[in-house]
This record gives sequence, C-alpha cells and structure tokens, in this order.
Amino acid sequence: EEDLSVADTEVFAIIQNEFERQSTHLEMIASENFTSPAVMEAMGSIFTNKYAEGYPNKRYYGGCQFADQVEQLAKDRLCKIFGCDYANVQPHSGSQANGAVYAALLQAGDKILGMDLRHGGHLTHGAKPSFSGKNYHSFTYGVEADGRMDYEKIAQIAEIVKPKIIVCGASAYTREIDFKKFRTIAERVGAILFADIAHIAGLVAAGEHMNPFPYADVVTSTTHKTLRGPRGGVIMTNNEEIAKKIDSAIFPGIQGGPLVHVIAAKAVAFGEVLHPSWKEYAKAVKSNAKLLGEIMNQRGFQLISGGTDNHMILISLMDKEFSGEEASVALENAGITVNKNSIPSDPRPASSTSGIRIGSAALTTLGMKEKEFTLIAHRISDVLDDIQNIPLQMEIKAELETLLKGFRVYNYATY
Ligand code: PLP
Repeated sequence: EEDLSVADTEVFAIIQNEFERQSTHLEMIASENFTSPAVMEAMGSIFTNKYAEGYPNKRYYGGCQFADQVEQLAKDRLCKIFGCDYANVQPHSGSQANGAVYAALLQAGDKILGMDLRHGGHLTHGAKPSFSGKNYHSFTYGVEADGRMDYEKIAQIAEIVKPKIIVCGASAYTREIDFKKFRTIAERVGAILFADIAHIAGLVAAGEHMNPFPYADVVTSTTHKTLRGPRGGVIMTNNEEIAKKIDSAIFPGIQGGPLVHVIAAKAVAFGEVLHPSWKEYAKAVKSNAKLLGEIMNQRGFQLISGGTDNHMILISLMDKEFSGEEASVALENAGITVNKNSIPSDPRPASSTSGIRIGSAALTTLGMKEKEFTLIAHRISDVLDDIQNIPLQMEIKAELETLLKGFRVYNYATY
C-alpha cells in the first residue's frame, strides 16, 4: 500500500506537472471544468475494481449490491435534475452515448440530420470521419450569416431530407437552442428528435437554458463540461420503449462492464447540481461569458452571432492576419488555454482554423467574477492585438499566475 509518489515516481511526476499546469494557466476551454475533490475521490475509489455488467438488480456478476445502489442513486438524481423518467448513466463518454442512441433507434444507412461540424456541430452528429457519418446517411444544417440557426430553413432542409432522426445540440454554438421549434420540425417530417446537450447541460440543469424535455424524444449529455462531473456520458428519455432500446444498445450493444467508480462520481456531481448553489454558479457562468464577449467586442473583435447566451464565445479571426492556431499558441504563451475552432465558411482547414472558442465554466468554478473576467478579456485582447510580442506574452503570463494564486481549486495533485 504505497502512495503513488513512492509506487510510481514517473507517473507521479507527470501528474505533478499537470497539476502545476492546471494551477498556473487560465483554463478557458469551453468543454472543460474543475470537478470537486469529492467527485475525484469517488472516481478514485475501490469501485474501480468491480465488474457489474447489466443494470441495477439485473447483473451478470455477484457482489453487485453496492454497485446497484450507487448506479440507482446516479439515475434518480439525473432524472430529478432534468425532469425525465428514464436515465442510463453507463456511457463511457458523450460519443458512446450518441453511438448508443443511433444503434438503438436506427438501422445502418438510415438518414440523420445534424448540425454541420464547421458550423458548430459535433463529430458524432453525422460528420464523415465519425462512425455517425460512416454508418448512417448523414445530412447537415448550419447557421446563417448572422451566426444563428434559422429554424424555418432547417425545417425546409428536413422536408427535403426526410431524416429518421434530427440531432440538435452543438459544440460551438453561442445562442440558445430552441428545442420547442426543433420538436415542431421533427413532427412535420415524422422524425425522432434527439437533443445532445453536452455543452449546455449545467445551464439547463439550473433553468438557465431551455430544457430539451418535454420536446426531445431522447437526450444525451457529457458529464464533464458545464455539468462539472467526471468524464463520461448519459442518456435520458421519457419514453419507456426508447429507454429499453437504449439500455440494450449500451449493454450488451456497444459496451461491456460499466465504470462503476465513474458512475459513483457522476452521482456525487449530480448531487452538487441539485444543491441550491448550482443556480448561482450557472448564472455566473453565463454573465461572465457575456461580459468577456462584450469587452472583446469593444476591443474590436468579431463574435460569431455577435455575442452569447451561454458559457462560450466564438471569436472570428477572418479580419485578422493570423489563424486560430496562431492565436491559441500566443494565448498559451501568455498562460491562457483556449482552443482553435472552425467558424462558418472557414477558409482554413481544421488544423489551423479562423476562430477561437473561449469558455467561462472552469474559471467561474474557481470563483472568478466580473473583476477578473474584465481583466482577462483585456489581456486576451492585448495578446491578440500584438500577436508577435513574446515579451508581452511573458509579462501577462506572470500577471495571470499571480492572479491565479488567489483562486486555487485543489491543494494537491492527487487525493
Ligand atoms: N456532443 C457534444 C455536443 C460535444 O461537444 C462533445 C464533446 O466535445 C461530445 C458529444 C462528445 O463527448 P466525448 O468527448 O465525451 O466523447
């Protein structure tokens, strides 16, 4: 029984370095967050040793009574958060959750209609390199010149395509998604409505974004973005028949034994979301993103859609001399972690892009407010206004490291 620091000095050193990185850089990747130590403790628990193929009270292994309890608790809490009847908390990731939805409800070659990857959709919404674009006949809709979805146009596309399933939800869309309008479209063409709320789940949970229930037939999410849990996925529905198909699609369809330690951590995270303080968190995530966007706009940066209704902004660099890749490297030098992101009609390939995506969820978890986000918006603008200026990047890095000393989320790299 040795601590990791003794048992494996190599891995321990790497984790220490990652701890240093997370403690000294501003984490602004829109899909990331800081889970609580309690979530990490559950994730690092002895449940990692347990095989529990099947579902609570229907297992293929002995000794599952506590695995049953923890999985049932996670399911019940999740249903309570989103106001739905059935939940599957076993998907290992968001992509697995989406794969299971298709496997449950479609035949190979069926038509799916999802948001174009370049317009903000996810790979699993029908993009060609993904299983979703390979196994199914995929069609796309996108955003208009103003960066927003035009629901009438999406309806027209749906009428022509006549998809079996319509996917709504995105990885890089900064405006509220109107699930009610998507329901109307789905009904018009007789399609199943599938909402992927991976990015916005934490906001939906707080009533800070429209809930896909009761409009969507099936809903998936990741648990590690705005929901602030461990890495993983979930699937929800109000339809018993769909729920049964989803359960068989996950196990034995595409997964084997569930990660019971991660399910335990999901239960802890869902408990945090059910706490009254979650509403304050979600509100702050939104107001911080909005402020960031407003200041960057005043500083001369173009925002796709002109602003944000959620936890992220998408900056267009079409009027600049540099790519999203160059912008993200310069910001990394200045101690700010973001990601390059394709924007609608991007002339650059996905490896360089003409956009950057910036999120507020992780820094809001640290307790950063208006004062800090104002400073950060200016520093991001300073870096991008003078992108070759390495001494300036170093100066800002030092300033932000000092700022971060007041906002430590973890005291140790391992628990
Ligand atoms: N769906 C959406 C909308 C996402 O943004 C993502 C991740 O970025 C996923 C699904 C996939 O999640 P994972 O990376 O856990 O497979």
